[in-house]
Amino acid sequence: MFQNSLYDWVRDHRVHHKFSDTDADPHNAQRGFFFSHIGWLMQKKSKAVIEKGRQLDLSDLFEDPLVVVFQKYYIYIRFVMCFFLPAYINTVWLGEDWWISFITMDFIRYVANLNFTFLVNSAAHMYGYKPYDTRILPSENVWVSIVSLGEGWHNYHHVFPWDYRAAEMGSYSLNLTTFWLDQFAKIGWAYDLKKPSDKMIRSHAEKYAGHDHPVEVTEEDASTMDLEEINDNIEIVRNNNVESKDKLIELINGQTFDPVTEGGGFPFPTIQSGLITEIEIL
Ligand SMILES: [Zn+2]
Ligand SMILES: [Zn+2]
Repeated sequence: MFQNSLYDWVRDHRVHHKFSDTDADPHNAQRGFFFSHIGWLMQKKSKAVIEKGRQLDLSDLFEDPLVVVFQKYYIYIRFVMCFFLPAYINTVWLGEDWWISFITMDFIRYVANLNFTFLVNSAAHMYGYKPYDTRILPSENVWVSIVSLGEGWHNYHHVFPWDYRAAEMGSYSLNLTTFWLDQFAKIGWAYDLKKPSDKMIRSHAEKYAGHDHPVEVTEEDASTMDLEEINDNIEIVRNNNVESKDKLIELINGQTFDPVTEGGGFPFPTIQSGLITEIEIL
């Protein structure tokens, strides 16, 4: 997949996080959907982006031999990995016509893939829920997570950018990137993986999201609990006792609860404890 060199990508990403949605953000979402999606790549970087970007220490990147080699040869690497191999495999191994391989494997796949990535900077900075911090634009967006393999839990990601999972809740099916990182960790290729404690997440969410944090639940737990137990657990979660955060429920709050639109943790049913008036175990 060709999306600039490693060095360029990491530099722009660091500037984006440090100066999110300000003039110094390369894809400032305050400038609208088009600019943050693709417009920023169609023009020269603004003075603010360049000046603020210079303040960042990027020396660690040049100490990484992989980044250095990639920076030197990525023009050839991108041609082979992004365009030649996909079309070659499709044609020679799978017997497809060269021309059709070029259109589907190179053109359509590349354009679609780029746009899926761009949606993280545009849609996930505009549409969705903010269960961790309402002061910022980035939002939890399940659709972006689906197409970008897990990058759409963007409210969380901007609050805890150093969490390797880029999301707190959800399954591997909506965060394939984390799945692979976990597999690589098992064989030692990925290490020093960091994530915040539940307590840290919850106290930040309560302070800056203005309501209690969604609760993650499992079906097994739900089937063994009664209403009183559920409410007790909600109370415990509300009081920041994280022991029971994995407990419980499907919520019916006078109406059908839709985990896709109501919560940040699809496909797990999630609830916001402040909203609960009535609970039914399904
Ligand atoms: Zn990021
Ligand atoms: Zn972002």
